[in-house]
Amino acid sequence: MRLIFLGLAGAGKGTQALTLSQRLGVAFVSSGDMFRHHLSQGTDLGLLAKSYMDKGELVPDEVTIRMVLDRIGQEDCLKGFILDGFPRTINQAQALDKALGDREVQGVLYIKVSEPELVRRLSSRISCRACGTPYQKELLPQGATRCPRCGGELYQRADDQPEVVRRRLQVQIPEVQGLADYYARQRKLVEINGEQPVERVGEALVKAILR
Ligand code: AMP
Repeated sequence: MRLIFLGLAGAGKGTQALTLSQRLGVAFVSSGDMFRHHLSQGTDLGLLAKSYMDKGELVPDEVTIRMVLDRIGQEDCLKGFILDGFPRTINQAQALDKALGDREVQGVLYIKVSEPELVRRLSSRISCRACGTPYQKELLPQGATRCPRCGGELYQRADDQPEVVRRRLQVQIPEVQGLADYYARQRKLVEINGEQPVERVGEALVKAILR
């Protein structure tokens, strides 16, 4: 099973992709997590990625494509994988198609959430200073100050202020739409309503891939 998750920031795709990968027993491959891991290890790739990540810009295709293709070529990805955060550009999507050849992606799950709802969600988001994982404030225990994953300090990112969130979304909307159109032409796109409770979104995803 080889799947791609698509969605704007705040759509909940990271959480859903991780849960589904555990359920299906396939590898979870998040390009954002990979860059953050390189960053925490202080590798050359991490340092290079940092300059783009800090500005909220995309890391150049060449570097990103090489990193992700290497990862999905590893043993644990042979029985399948779920991609989160990759591809982000048409160039990346084409490189992925070319690399996979006959082992092509079977489905692209697009979690759709309206813009006002995304602004609401992202403005109430807090992130871990150490590992970067974002959380919905209302889903954490009240008054939580530490990351449930790694114990790092939780804080509100400067770019999660409502005005900045709106600007980020304006950049992302045409990018995600372009990829949705690309996969719709390949008849691989499935749209999922992301404005339902988390468990319902999960059920809709399972239903979609069993079709
Ligand atoms: P994310 O956790 O998916 O929001 O990714 C965090 C940051 O990592 C992004 O803002 C980009 O700087 C970088 N990044 C993650 N995935 C990609 C990608 N597919 N192409 C380029 N940059 C990426």
